[in-house]
Amino acid sequence: MRRRGGILFAFVLGLAGLSSRHASAYVREVTSTGVPIAWRNPCVTMHIYLGSPPPVLTAADYFAASTLAMAAWSYPQVACTDIRLNGVAETQASAGVGYDKSNVIVFRQTTWCRDPAPVDDAGIPEPDCYPGSALAVTSIFKNVKTGEIVDTDIEFNAVDYSWGDLVGQPAPVTATPADFQNALTHELGHVVGLDHNCYTTNDGQARLNDNTGTPELDCYGNPPPPDAVTAATMYPSVLLTDTQRRDLSADDVQGVCEIYPHAHDVCPPSPEGGCSVASPGVSPRPWPEISCALFAAFLAVLAFRRSRERV
Ligand SMILES: [Zn+2]
Repeated sequence: MRRRGGILFAFVLGLAGLSSRHASAYVREVTSTGVPIAWRNPCVTMHIYLGSPPPVLTAADYFAASTLAMAAWSYPQVACTDIRLNGVAETQASAGVGYDKSNVIVFRQTTWCRDPAPVDDAGIPEPDCYPGSALAVTSIFKNVKTGEIVDTDIEFNAVDYSWGDLVGQPAPVTATPADFQNALTHELGHVVGLDHNCYTTNDGQARLNDNTGTPELDCYGNPPPPDAVTAATMYPSVLLTDTQRRDLSADDVQGVCEIYPHAHDVCPPSPEGGCSVASPGVSPRPWPEISCALFAAFLAVLAFRRSRERV
């Protein structure tokens, strides 16, 4: 399994917070042809798989935290946006990731790999395992021509980390679970179409411009980016004890409101169209000559690795 090193994350630990210059900027995720991505209908349902949550979360904690994280990005908590993320509880333990028009939130507890494994042209499974430093991964399926988001799935790493509610139930000093609501709020930023708010080679893509047309700053540069970048929900790495990403920064709010300005007091009717996979019971609506591409972004842990997490 190819893993990315943790040295860079550890290095920035001592530098973050030294600068106080404010920067108003956010970065949108784009397709391979440079089209910014967004949902066509701003009412998005996430299916939350509660059947077997990992330590130390209970199913009730898990669902409550999910509800709060979705509300953080949604109208009416964010009055200037039209988007609404809604959660539906599922009793099963987990679900697969894929373009099936079912947006899922799941924990991976056996292997930290995409499930089901992608298959090659011959139909042979090719395991796609994520870096052990990644707390969570969001996969986004999008129409590469129009930028329409058509499916999103969030996987949490319960192989390398335990998960808890560090605000409601502070962890004992002998254990350091990561804060689930904190990490989920970040991943939901990807769900609404935002990219990380700075450049890191870990994302495996070219440097993007922010909303002002300025090339994004280096996430782990020297000098480090200003506090407005490192403190935002869409900064790509956190300390395990971090809880500040639960609340959006001004830049995060500006991003979601400019992508989805408020236009409806209730969910608008669902538009037709999309790619060729339909919801169960609905006839497929093929959209020839347009394919859907996968984008995956992860939230990394900003800390020294524990000894058992060897490359
Ligand atoms: Zn991320």
